[in-house]
Amino acid sequence: MSGKTCLKCGKPIDAPSEDPAADKYPACNACWKEWTTYAIMVMNELRLDMSLPEHRKALRKYERAFFGLEKGIGEIEKKPEQPPSH
Ligand SMILES: [Zn+2]
Repeated sequence: MSGKTCLKCGKPIDAPSEDPAADKYPACNACWKEWTTYAIMVMNELRLDMSLPEHRKALRKYERAFFGLEKGIGEIEKKPEQPPSH
């Protein structure tokens, strides 16, 4: 037993995480999978480019909000600043 509890669903985590990134919350595999699916949606919706630090930061905000660490954004509403395209 790890003694860890999932931040998202509140269930004890008994399986080792498939993604080491899930450990920092911690999140169970089911919730982490849910987040990764949601993250793809966010990235598509906001046209996030993971090579841009400010876009990675924006996604991180959604990640934290997803796991209840950040208040104020529950939905996709705020686009990160876009670099001028022309
Ligand atoms: Zn969970």
